[in-house]
Amino acid sequence: MPPLALCSSPACDFRIKLQDGKTGKSISTPHICPKCEAPMLSVCPECGFLLIDIPAEKHPRCPVCRFDIRETFARLVFGIHRPSPRFKGDPSPSES
Ligand SMILES: [Zn+2]
Ligand SMILES: [Zn+2]
Repeated sequence: MPPLALCSSPACDFRIKLQDGKTGKSISTPHICPKCEAPMLSVCPECGFLLIDIPAEKHPRCPVCRFDIRETFARLVFGIHRPSPRFKGDPSPSES
């Protein structure tokens, strides 16, 4: 399977293979989606692994880290921190 680039918008299903099926030449990743102009993703925003064999669904997950690729990207873009699953509810040290 050649690596893929995926449109980062959940409302858009544009994806492109980054390798020419006939010549085997690699194709450079477009920076923005030609359909909706959202940024394109060619690696997992969480673990940086190439997007290979990503199912064509609205919220595809990285086969390596299992994170939702588009959701993770949106979180990075909007600067929202992922709630830690190991957060034990320690009181904030800045209580005064
Ligand atoms: Zn798009
Ligand atoms: Zn990943």
